[in-house]
Amino acid sequence: MAFVKKQVDVTPIEDTVFAIVKLAKQAIMEKGDDAVVNATIGSLYGEDGRIVAYDSVFGPYDRIKKEVKAAYAASFTGNESYRKQVYEWVCGDNKLHLAHSVIATAGGSGAVSIAINEMLDEGQTLVIPKIAWGSYALMASMHNVVVTSYELFDGDRFHLRDFERVCREVMEKQHKLLVVINDPCHNPTGYSMSMAEWKQVIGFLNELSVLGDVVILNDVAYIDYAYQKDARAYLSVLNEMNAHVMCIVAFSCSKTLTSYGLRCGAALLLAKDAAQVREVEIVFEKMARSLWSNIPNAAMENFTYVTTIGKDSFLQEKQEYVELLRKRSACFIEEAEACALPCYPYKEGFFVTVKMPDNQTRDRFHEALMKQDIYTVKVNTGIRVAICSLPLKKCEGLAERMKEIYVQVEAER
Ligand code: PLP
Repeated sequence: MAFVKKQVDVTPIEDTVFAIVKLAKQAIMEKGDDAVVNATIGSLYGEDGRIVAYDSVFGPYDRIKKEVKAAYAASFTGNESYRKQVYEWVCGDNKLHLAHSVIATAGGSGAVSIAINEMLDEGQTLVIPKIAWGSYALMASMHNVVVTSYELFDGDRFHLRDFERVCREVMEKQHKLLVVINDPCHNPTGYSMSMAEWKQVIGFLNELSVLGDVVILNDVAYIDYAYQKDARAYLSVLNEMNAHVMCIVAFSCSKTLTSYGLRCGAALLLAKDAAQVREVEIVFEKMARSLWSNIPNAAMENFTYVTTIGKDSFLQEKQEYVELLRKRSACFIEEAEACALPCYPYKEGFFVTVKMPDNQTRDRFHEALMKQDIYTVKVNTGIRVAICSLPLKKCEGLAERMKEIYVQVEAER
């Protein structure tokens, strides 16, 4: 007997992050905070061990009239001022000569999920990186979409050859391509592609599009935590997309504003042909209406206020944390290099990932770390260290401790 539909995977979510967070909290209760390294939490935390909630964001939010908080949004696609401002914010100084539209979504997750659901038919294949945010695969599975993956790195660089190989294989099979590029500040490695890498990717996808339409799903959830000055410059390369290539940029207010709980984000549609953009907009609007109906009015109004009138104080406050991330990551990476603890090529962002030769070794290492009260998150062939929530004093000496434990794990093989 089954009440749910036939074509759905009924195995429970294996929320490994939540389970490890629980263990870390338990260890802190038993042994005290100083004795435990909790590098599991994927939100921005201050040096005081508390979640960051920007004054420049939540001050204005608290001043929003209760009637505005109570009201529905102006439309299923989002408030006009919000849609306009997301475009301005995401593009920054780049002048895009592309037709565009913005649809408000339930966080960045909403944008990614509707893109997977509406750009591919059931049974088709989505292309994602081999090391990736776990939700891509879950979303695909809930929409009965198959997943295949490309090798992310060739040494310290983006693995263009494998990206091309996998995209070509899928294109030849289904004459349609939806490929996720989580850049800049890739979760969980912290890699950001160079302009040259983006140019190669777009050049290749233009060529590939003779076989079928191409949709790039560019997940920019962490873009506002890049260390490089112009993290948005690569967007100008999208001007080179031909008429058979579209880009859907998934934007998240959760990270940008430290407002994870307000569930606000957007899908920014970019393509040469306005009619094609309009078609996707129509479908996304209907999807929005059928799923969440509309996005919290006050969350959208607040984003618009904070990134216009409140912009200077917001940028100043956010920059303090970008600098903090820079310090924490530099500390971990420099010490890791000094003791030869291998990490995936980190440039910027919330996480550093220690490289593992295979998932069996990773599992043993992860277990051994917990025995020494170091709590991390397992990712494919890696151990994710959430420097976004780890105070600087806990970053210090961590790489060396991890290396010592790793050496022991290897010795006990
Ligand atoms: N994309 C990536 C890579 C993420 O890590 C996350 C959140 O962890 C998201 C998108 C979506 O976040 P939200 O739905 O809270 O905006």
